[in-house]
Amino acid sequence: MIKKFPCTFGHEFSGTIVELGKGVTRFQPGMRVVPANTAPCQMCFYCKNGRQSLCEDLLYMNGGYAEYIAIPERIVRYNLLEIPDHLSFQEAALTEPLACAIHGVERSEIKLGDTVVILGSGPLGLMITRLVHLRGARTILLGKGQERMEKAKKFGADEVIDISQVEDKVKAAREMTEGGRGADVV
Ligand SMILES: [Zn+2]
Repeated sequence: MIKKFPCTFGHEFSGTIVELGKGVTRFQPGMRVVPANTAPCQMCFYCKNGRQSLCEDLLYMNGGYAEYIAIPERIVRYNLLEIPDHLSFQEAALTEPLACAIHGVERSEIKLGDTVVILGSGPLGLMITRLVHLRGARTILLGKGQERMEKAKKFGADEVIDISQVEDKVKAAREMTEGGRGADVV
């Protein structure tokens, strides 16, 4: 999220540490790291109840397109991870969106054999499709763009609905569920 303009862009990235701030002991120059783009305060009502995504004072960071970036103290403290050797920078850069997808799928309590409708064929929609497929649920993805729809099938979508081709998206999805009752989870 961007709170004020103008500002630098980019919030999914990884890199190598060139310099440490004062008092940083957990990291060393030369380490390959990936930050999340936010960090919760860990002090407010929601943070104390384990709902950090609802933090009343969530810190946002942009600027991943720059060659160098100073990672804010709070992100270094809570949301900076060392990249293991077997992961490339490109793969590691997807840590935060993948974590969001995993978290969402876990919270939705999808069971084996459920029918799950996924809205959107962007990177998160595709990651969620893969994770839901791995849980043994049947997946119906609503999205657009032929390339994305083909990717979705590769990722495990059982059915894809191109929303640019149907008049009533809800009806189209319902018709693909048992007895037209709709999905167990959307
Ligand atoms: Zn908080």
